[in-house]
Amino acid sequence: MTYVVTEACIKCKYTDCVDVCPVDCFYEGENMLVINPSECIDCGVCEPECPAEAILPDTEEGLEKMLEINTKYSAEWPNITVSREAPADADEHKDEEGKFEKYFSTEPGEGD
Ligand code: SF4
Ligand code: SF4
Repeated sequence: MTYVVTEACIKCKYTDCVDVCPVDCFYEGENMLVINPSECIDCGVCEPECPAEAILPDTEEGLEKMLEINTKYSAEWPNITVSREAPADADEHKDEEGKFEKYFSTEPGEGD
């Protein structure tokens, strides 16, 4: 089991989650974060910290695609361990539907 960052994170990227992760397993893309499933210890402390409710356990249904995205891009994007200010328009994109199709980017973020 692991926790998975879902498309609700896209363009929100509040980064509250990274401060609480005891094993620093978040990785940063241009407009979302992902979790490395082989590093995540399933502690679950990040799930309630996310203002966008973007983090779910992989035991929930329908997460296959996002589990693949988390696995693939956590191997390519830089590690992020310290929170930073959310994008200025993050609140506008919270709860928006269809963000993966509209905005998903394979480009890496800055990392720490
Ligand atoms: S707190 Fe939620 S929205 Fe923010 S970066 Fe983490 S997963 Fe994404
Ligand atoms: S469940 Fe725990 S180990 Fe996994 S990403 Fe969240 S805080 Fe990190």
